[in-house]
Amino acid sequence: MPSQNPVFIPGPTNIPEALRRAVDMPTMDHRSAEFADILQPALSGVKRVLRSEAGEVFLFPATGTGGWEVAISNTLSPGDRVLAARHGMFSARWIDLCRRHGLDVVEVGAAWGESLPVHRFREILEADRDHRIRAVLATHNETATGVVSDIAALREAMDGERHPALLMVDGVSSIGSMDFRMDAWGVDVAVTGSQKGFMLPAGLAIVAMSPKALAAVESATLPRCYFDIRDMRAACPGSGYPYTPPVGLINGLRVATDMLLGEGLAAVFARHARIAEGVRRAVAAWGMSLCARRPEIWSNTVSAILTPEGFDSGALVAHAAKRYGVAFGAGLGDVAGKLFRIGHLGRLSEAQALLGLAVAEMAMADMGLELRLGTGVAAAQEYYRSKTP
Ligand SMILES: *Cc1c(COP(=O)(O)O)cnc(C)c1O
Repeated sequence: MPSQNPVFIPGPTNIPEALRRAVDMPTMDHRSAEFADILQPALSGVKRVLRSEAGEVFLFPATGTGGWEVAISNTLSPGDRVLAARHGMFSARWIDLCRRHGLDVVEVGAAWGESLPVHRFREILEADRDHRIRAVLATHNETATGVVSDIAALREAMDGERHPALLMVDGVSSIGSMDFRMDAWGVDVAVTGSQKGFMLPAGLAIVAMSPKALAAVESATLPRCYFDIRDMRAACPGSGYPYTPPVGLINGLRVATDMLLGEGLAAVFARHARIAEGVRRAVAAWGMSLCARRPEIWSNTVSAILTPEGFDSGALVAHAAKRYGVAFGAGLGDVAGKLFRIGHLGRLSEAQALLGLAVAEMAMADMGLELRLGTGVAAAQEYYRSKTP
């Protein structure tokens, strides 16, 4: 029996009671008008969260990774060149997915802990005079390192070079928790999943496409079937689906977007910023530092905390789970064993964040790290008390 402690992994996030109820639905005919009353508000709610008027939203039974596959397979053709940075586990996985689809990836390396190198991207786009690069891929929030990248600056660089490539953004751990502006940033494909900012169980790949991306769908020749946007578009006007949709999850998404928009996106983002800053104050009080190298790129949805040289952060995460029933995120890929992550996205409160910090302190002390119990918690408490929501 799982404990009722909140989780502090950076997704899946804690599911609010109202959303658990919304997902729990009796069987319904997904070809009925009743289903349309669930699907349409879910789609328009997502559009509002994405700040998109022009885009079209698609919900596939999958997860964020499936959303990448939707993005790639619907807009590109075998051998197409794409530009991407590798600066964490998720950006690395996206590159791998592209290669396995037969795409030609121009890969830019960057330190794990750094953001997408917009400067370097601009140089590469400038040199690409015959516009062989068909898509630029960006991971808005690198969940492995707790680093946010500047998508507006990337769009500015692309426009500055008058480069026509599609801009595809992985917003899996930012959308619904941090500022994201699909139209204003000229994002052509935005990808997320149901289990992070939308606070639902995993199971939906949420993909939005700009008119320019939708035009590319017509000429793209990568194989796709289950994820074919054309089938989804053909079925959706009548609120149909090309196959059986996960009705409960879609109903959950309808309620989740209501919750986010009801709180107000600005308030949601401010809450995440406040909770994240409390966590960062705690980290500083512990005398530790973040994997993210500069304050400008600190993520408000996940903090990746470096542990001392020679210490196994994986053992810390395992101990916290076993002894205290609290899940933190482990280090992934290049940073495995070197850091642990506190996820603070979704419907998290200050009170819950303090619980996570208190448990992290106990677990670190148990594991022999030098720290005085209560120092991080007190730093966060002081910060939270000083900030009125
Ligand atoms: C979680 C995550 C993914 C992968 O999503 P899945 O739903 O696990 O397939 C992709 N990118 C980022 C940035 C993520 O945080």
